[in-house]
Amino acid sequence: MSTPSRIAVVGAGIVGCSCALWLQKKGFAVTLIDPDDPGAGTSSGNACTIAEYGCVPVNSPDLLRRLPSLLFSSDSPLSINLGYVLSHPAWMIDFLLNCREQKVVRIIQELGKLLGRVYDGLDPLLDMADARDLLAQKGFMHVYRDQQEFNAAKPANQARREQGSNFVELDRGDIQDLEPNLKIPFERGLLFDSINHVLNPTALCQRYVECFKRNQGQLLRQRALEVIPENGSVQIRLDNAEIVDAERVVIAAGAFSKFIDGIPTGSLKLDTERGYHVQFSNMQHLLSRPVSWQQAGFYATPMNQGMRFAGTVEIAGYKEKKNPRILGYLKRKAHEMLELPPQPDQEWLGFRPTCPDALPLIGFSTTSENILYASGHHHLGLTLSGITGKLIAELANGEEPSHNIAPFSPQRFS
Ligand SMILES: Cc1cc2nc3c(=O)[nH]c(=O)nc-3n(C[C@H](O)[C@H](O)[C@H](O)COP(=O)(O)OP(=O)(O)OC[C@H]3O[C@@H](n4cnc5c(N)ncnc54)[C@H](O)[C@@H]3O)c2cc1C
Repeated sequence: MSTPSRIAVVGAGIVGCSCALWLQKKGFAVTLIDPDDPGAGTSSGNACTIAEYGCVPVNSPDLLRRLPSLLFSSDSPLSINLGYVLSHPAWMIDFLLNCREQKVVRIIQELGKLLGRVYDGLDPLLDMADARDLLAQKGFMHVYRDQQEFNAAKPANQARREQGSNFVELDRGDIQDLEPNLKIPFERGLLFDSINHVLNPTALCQRYVECFKRNQGQLLRQRALEVIPENGSVQIRLDNAEIVDAERVVIAAGAFSKFIDGIPTGSLKLDTERGYHVQFSNMQHLLSRPVSWQQAGFYATPMNQGMRFAGTVEIAGYKEKKNPRILGYLKRKAHEMLELPPQPDQEWLGFRPTCPDALPLIGFSTTSENILYASGHHHLGLTLSGITGKLIAELANGEEPSHNIAPFSPQRFS
């Protein structure tokens, strides 16, 4: 019997864990490398939705028009640290160029097509890891405070419909019937009936890793410092000085993927959109399903640990501490929305991995066929984790990928 080829996966967030399981399904021997607990990073704190409707990016021509008011309002879900942006202008310039109408139309189409494949990647992993109990099919609701907010969202909602999202429009009475604990009389809403959400995203990663280990996967609790391509293989240097030899490596270290030496990350244009949550334990009974207050830029999600209010976008890089203005904003909005205890039990900051064109990075590195990237999933990493794993495994196995990944190629930036 021949020995299976060894592949290393750097990063045990939801994307890395999904890649690792899919690679095992294809028969590879896999080493998963992460200094932290699986799923402890950005994958732990998200809004938990399998957001098949999520084809509309933050980039939009409208954002350009609204930018000044969003930036200087204390009541805004968007924050830009000018010092950071001025010292790292390239990403922001590219992001703004990708707010032009033509670009946004293309982003929506490419994300829409990939989102149509979500369950081709997710279902086999949920079965393999015996994790279906961590998913709840309760649907998902967008709410709008008044007709004006609703009208402003019409083009985005039309785009969602064109990309295959099914939803019904709601009026004030429908919303109150469905979610009677909402304090604000939201005038309009949308109900996406068939949407799933995850009840505990960290537990999902842990379940994947338990399955990975049962299948003889090797988990190394080390930081990958450097990737060294060799002839037909690759070495990964860890922070305990150990070297891992592999046929290929998958870089799935989320927003931190660009900090590993030896890969041409400069050309990846990966940066971070920071996002926050505040969480109130034992308050999950207040809603039946995740509810997104669109204009306010966050979701209220009932989950196993409580009621989580997650969202907002902050461009401030990796080093700044948590921004008290944004946490204050989220707490204020949470209390406007639902009857809650005065203080949350948890305040959290996470780092979405984001390319300026709002498309993920899935594919071979520009310099080596031994290096694959699975990163840049911004607001959709939980949703797209399974299909990303499937596509990465197909590439590693030398197959024609089952989805056109050219738009997501790391080579698009070179
Ligand atoms: C507030 C908020 C709400 C969100 N809501 C949703 C949602 O509802 N639905 C959705 O689909 N997505 C959502 N997202 C996005 C989603 O959470 C992310 O896209 C996803 O978690 C990214 O996963 P990842 O595995 O790429 O990165 P991470 O979860 O950050 O994992 C990366 C891992 O790599 C490890 N690592 C880093 N450097 C190294 C190294 N040198 N060596 C080894 N390991 C390393 C880290 O320790 C970490 O474990 C949300 C994000 C935020 C912030």
